[in-house]
Amino acid sequence: MLKISVGHLYPKLLNLYGDMGNVITLERRCVWRGIEFEYNEINSGDKIGRHDFYFIGGGQDKQQQDVSVELYKSKQFLCDERDRGAVFLGICGGYQLFGHYYQPFDGDKLLGISLMDAYTVAGKKRFIGNVTVETDFLTPKTLVGFENHSGLTYLQGETKPLGRNIVGNGNNGRDFEEGGRFKNVFGTYLHGSLLPKNPHFADYLIKLALKTRYGEGIELNKLDDEIELKAHNSLVGKAY
Ligand code: GLN
Repeated sequence: MLKISVGHLYPKLLNLYGDMGNVITLERRCVWRGIEFEYNEINSGDKIGRHDFYFIGGGQDKQQQDVSVELYKSKQFLCDERDRGAVFLGICGGYQLFGHYYQPFDGDKLLGISLMDAYTVAGKKRFIGNVTVETDFLTPKTLVGFENHSGLTYLQGETKPLGRNIVGNGNNGRDFEEGGRFKNVFGTYLHGSLLPKNPHFADYLIKLALKTRYGEGIELNKLDDEIELKAHNSLVGKAY
């Protein structure tokens, strides 16, 4: 039986706007295909073990501060996990900590773990609303979700965006880009939660995790995504 192991990083601190829905979607889409889904919560003080897939949600600056201290202790381990091909998905506050740092309005810089070459600084305006992104690696091309952040994220070097904003502000409201990707590390501002309305992205990530675990591309049985894609299509291009 195929299997993927998922490490959920600090869900008691970073889990805003239903981000747990991403883990539930990954679990369902594995179980519906007969793929074993091993799930481990990693909370403050826990040692982070090796997994095929790591997920981290979003949260307010205070919770990010606590998680930044914890995550930084495992920076080298997680960068090594990135380099062997483990999949990471970070949402908003979690995404910000995938970069080098997050500089909130008040207080000291929060150190990130540099999984991707990016940094975030607090902006004056809070970006709240629907987002549609056009990617060049998914079918359908679009990703939809909801953003609520004041942080402005800037990508550098080999870190590329998930796609171009059709609706919404994305990383910083200036460069019309949303999210970031380096190797199998993905970050995005899309809450919602993201994966239930973007089943094609969920499957893309599952396939990457299986490829890393088994060393070869594994095709996934097709699921009936009529409802999921109806939800997706109802939001494409919609600001309100
Ligand atoms: N505190 C961060 C910001 O406001 C992240 C917020 C979030 O995770 N939704 O930018």
